[in-house]
Amino acid sequence: MHIILILFAMYSPRFSPMVLTRPLTPALQPLYQEFDLEPVDVLHYDLSIDIDRVTETIDATTEVTLVPTENNLTDFKLYLKSLTVSHVTGASSFSQAGDSLFITLPTPASTSDTIQLVIDYSGTPPSESWGGFHFHPYVTYHMGVGFVSDPSMGKYMFPCHDRPSDKASFDFHITVPDTLYAVANGDSAGVTDNMDGTLTYHWTLDQPMSTYLAAISVADYTVLHDSTDSRIYYYVYSWDVDDALGSFANVDLMLAQFESVYSSYPWDCKFSYVQTPTGDMEHLSQVYHIASAINGSTYYDWLLAHEMSHMWWGNCVTERYWTDVWLSESFATYSEAIWMESYGEIEYLDYVVNNIMKPYLNSGELFPIVGAETPAELWSNTTYEKGASVLHMLRQIMGDTAFFAGYDTYFDHHKYTIAHTVDFIDHMEGQYGELDWFFDPWVYGEGYPIYDITSSWVQQGSQWQLTVNIGQMQTVSNFFTMPVEFLVEGTASDSLITFFNDVPDQEEIFLLPFEPVSVEFDPGSKILSTAVLGVEEQTYPPIGGVGTMYLGPNPASENCTINWLGTGDMFLNVCIYDLSGRIVQSRTLEPSMRTLDLSGIPAGTYLVDAVATGNVRQTARLVIL
Ligand SMILES: [Zn+2]
Repeated sequence: MHIILILFAMYSPRFSPMVLTRPLTPALQPLYQEFDLEPVDVLHYDLSIDIDRVTETIDATTEVTLVPTENNLTDFKLYLKSLTVSHVTGASSFSQAGDSLFITLPTPASTSDTIQLVIDYSGTPPSESWGGFHFHPYVTYHMGVGFVSDPSMGKYMFPCHDRPSDKASFDFHITVPDTLYAVANGDSAGVTDNMDGTLTYHWTLDQPMSTYLAAISVADYTVLHDSTDSRIYYYVYSWDVDDALGSFANVDLMLAQFESVYSSYPWDCKFSYVQTPTGDMEHLSQVYHIASAINGSTYYDWLLAHEMSHMWWGNCVTERYWTDVWLSESFATYSEAIWMESYGEIEYLDYVVNNIMKPYLNSGELFPIVGAETPAELWSNTTYEKGASVLHMLRQIMGDTAFFAGYDTYFDHHKYTIAHTVDFIDHMEGQYGELDWFFDPWVYGEGYPIYDITSSWVQQGSQWQLTVNIGQMQTVSNFFTMPVEFLVEGTASDSLITFFNDVPDQEEIFLLPFEPVSVEFDPGSKILSTAVLGVEEQTYPPIGGVGTMYLGPNPASENCTINWLGTGDMFLNVCIYDLSGRIVQSRTLEPSMRTLDLSGIPAGTYLVDAVATGNVRQTARLVIL
């Protein structure tokens, strides 16, 4: 099933690099007040919500069934935002302040007690630009995650222990005008006609779900049932049915791909997409898919795949802290490539290079995957694309068998509960052995390697001696120990050489039975990196091929010209980076115009990264005077 060619055997570095401290509790506490758990474990939420679209209010009751996690419990709090509680059955008293609902029990409770609270509340449910509870002209819907304040937004709809780690089963009873349809997590448990112009839709989910994944959506939905896979439904605006049939054409294949690579769909209920004005969001069993993406084409398959894969990664194995959110988002982003792999290994690698690695390298972001300090760092190219690149690289190092065995044991041990980053590392090391040298720089460190590579060759009797020098130039991050590959091409044959780059300024010597013509670094795109290739020792391939790019003059002052044989009739997309990885200029050069205007760029050493039509890429070092 996993068809990427494995070129590495089991490697281990010659020495273990310095081991960084792995924070189990990352440093985001002041930002998101999520680290404190209340001394309760919620077992079940039963929501009854009456929606008034005219006044844009809800009138609701939530029954919360919970057990104390410590003895002599009398006081604890749940979370509820901007909604007013009128009564709590099961409490001797309650009060609200900010987002907290403080509960006092009539008698102290122990860990063997089960407590049931019935909480009546009403008001205008709040929203942010993306997350929260929205009254839209066509749709009333709740989004469980936000990007501005606390990402856990269960509290925007119902009183809850709004922490990703406290999972519970759910029932939803949603009362709406009888012209509308209400969908929620889980499976339908029937519809009641209230004989007053309203219907109450009952949805039930038996398995445990985090509060940020609970959601309801109400609209004039047409319910479509996938013709191939009876578990799959689509809830789409009645006027978009034809477009939906086109846009969801591959969903059954997608589910089959993930069931083949990961595990059977882990939920006993439906899987569905729900058309909503904004999206996309992986609410359990009902992904919210942005309305504009339902346009009849399969262009947004990558997005459908990303959200579907969250049913495993994030929804079933859930990060304990939001600072470990890469355990959801990197896995989902990498799942986009896993979906593309169902078309073939070329499609997989093309997707990894152009849709995962490149967006990260172009972002200029240089902070660690674990340990974000701001919301912008948490929901970033680093979390999504760098993290997905880490999974791609890890798979190249481990090989498919060990990599997916590690995925399997990690999933099996943590499904329906929570995980930390160290749990994932432990399971991958269980299949491979020591991986500190990989995870420490890539997950807990900053940035990526910028390689400085030169190669030269001399004839030795009937053979050729090739010398490769490799250094790392990044200034903001630590050393990256990695296996590296070079494709040495001759006129009649070629050879792939590999070694472990585990010391700075490393020199390796190889004997070849043919005369090299060119040396290409990382031909399989196995490393998230940029490389500066020394030019003076290189020999150009014949015109018509794609060879090494060089810049002239170099050093340059006001402008320089890109010379890259074989690309004379192609557009070049060119980025100039400084050595910390930040973009200082980005432009497209027409075939007739190959001169870079350097005015305004401070003196210093830069990297010029150019991509020609067909996504052939070269990078060269440029000194600006
Ligand atoms: Zn996602």
